[in-house]
Amino acid sequence: MNSPRIKIDVAKGCGFCGGVRRAVDIALKAADEYGSVAMLGDIVHNEDVVSMLESNGVHVVNSPEDITNKPVLLRAHGTPPETENLLREKGLFIIDATCPLVKEIHSAVRELEKENRTCIIIGDKGHEEVDGISGRVKTSLILSGPQDAEKLPSMKKAGVVVQSTQTHQNLNAIVAILLTKVQDLRIINTICAPSRQNQKEAERIARENDVIIVIGSRSSANTRRLYQVVKKYNPDVYLVSSSDELEKDWFNVVQSVGITAGASTPDDVIGEVIFKIREFG
Ligand code: SF4
Repeated sequence: MNSPRIKIDVAKGCGFCGGVRRAVDIALKAADEYGSVAMLGDIVHNEDVVSMLESNGVHVVNSPEDITNKPVLLRAHGTPPETENLLREKGLFIIDATCPLVKEIHSAVRELEKENRTCIIIGDKGHEEVDGISGRVKTSLILSGPQDAEKLPSMKKAGVVVQSTQTHQNLNAIVAILLTKVQDLRIINTICAPSRQNQKEAERIARENDVIIVIGSRSSANTRRLYQVVKKYNPDVYLVSSSDELEKDWFNVVQSVGITAGASTPDDVIGEVIFKIREFG
């Protein structure tokens, strides 16, 4: 007897966000125009996208020293100003693919500094976006979770900005602690609109479906966070980077499958996963 068809519920707006789409378009256009361009680190955190760009003439370099006379692309999630300065000093032609929403975070943190506030960045320590934000001001404190906030002393005046892909849960938990320690606290919620929508939809599909598939690279902080959001509401969740990692057993007694994907997961990878699940069903 055939098993009933599995219902597939795809999270609205999942996959490439506007900022990543824009960065990839800029990279491809630049490679087309200049033949070959250097990309400082991965422009997005997705191995498939990076190898597609490589084959089109966009080559990853790990440090400014490795770039000779090619135009250089700045990635979607921003670059620390000292790195940008180094590139300028070398006289390299810079193509800026930084997402406009990340630039808004740079302006927000500078605004907090102008107000003489201690600048607090909620984000992952060591992440390029967070380094890019902290580089915009003289000093800042980076808090990855409530445990970091607990260690802070009492303060008179501080301000908060947030890495674009952080979750509201983490922001709320940290702010709750800061409110007990800071007299005058200003919060600029810089979680970007596509990340907010992704998290909201991840929560919805987690509640409404039997099994959830999160598609994206394990090196993408944003994909891992979506996985955590889903896991909170539905323990039957799997993170896959492509359809090859899907296992038929996951869908044996399942009526509905929810699907979401990180901001740097291409549409064709999402399409392949849906296709394969339909085949199983
Ligand atoms: S996740 Fe948000 S901030 Fe980051 S590139 Fe996409 S739109 Fe821009």
